[in-house]
Amino acid sequence: MSARDKWENYKEHEDKLEPCKYCGGTARVAGTEFNGKIFYGVFCETPKCINNTSEYLSRKRAIEEWNRKQRGEKKKYSTMEDVLEVWTRWEREAGQ
Ligand SMILES: [Zn+2]
Repeated sequence: MSARDKWENYKEHEDKLEPCKYCGGTARVAGTEFNGKIFYGVFCETPKCINNTSEYLSRKRAIEEWNRKQRGEKKKYSTMEDVLEVWTRWEREAGQ
């Protein structure tokens, strides 16, 4: 397997998103740039469905968070990184 195939496999696996638990719709990852950093969030593509995740500095993390939420699992993360991300989001929202 070439490095490129491995990468494609990895990407495919990484982006495996559970369907939306409310409408069964397809989910998508979106990155937003803010202060030179990219924040990743996952949202449901169905118009008017507001199911989404918080935004994270890690794309993988946003995907994990989405999948966890759709399966109805309890929050798995409670690290300093989480707290910093929440603060960053608050600052961002306050600045708007
Ligand atoms: Zn939905």
